[in-house]
Amino acid sequence: MTNAYDQSPQEANRTRAHWALVALEAFGNETGQNYFDGTLSVDEAELREVAGDLLADLFHLARINDVLPEVITGAAYLHFEAEVAEEEAPGEAPANVAHCPACAGPMRYVIGQPHTCADCGGHLPGGTNAGPGRGWEGKNGWLLVVELDDEEDEEI
Ligand SMILES: [Zn+2]
Repeated sequence: MTNAYDQSPQEANRTRAHWALVALEAFGNETGQNYFDGTLSVDEAELREVAGDLLADLFHLARINDVLPEVITGAAYLHFEAEVAEEEAPGEAPANVAHCPACAGPMRYVIGQPHTCADCGGHLPGGTNAGPGRGWEGKNGWLLVVELDDEEDEEI
């Protein structure tokens, strides 16, 4: 068995996709839908058909056990969103990361988006100053506070 937690988020999500493929292959063996070749490259129409049938049958199993299908799809979607987000998350915040004015959490830097606190989701108000002789710099997904050298200081 592969342990997804020892892998990078990208590798872990490919491992999860592989587990789903194993389930679809086993399901297809039972229903006669033997469309898979063991790779993660699956035809869209065949994926819709077999994955849709497997989900419908999971809902039948849930119904027999007094569980609503929405409970399963809701939990699945939460896991899926969080696992995709892990692929986009930067590593640990560096020491000179800018801090959230509301909770002092580390601020994320994403090009074209407002700076957002990694902990509370709060934003840095527009026009916030980094402090005397200091400026902002975005690096590796974090908003950093950097010392400006004298020349830059004079320009401002
Ligand atoms: Zn915050």
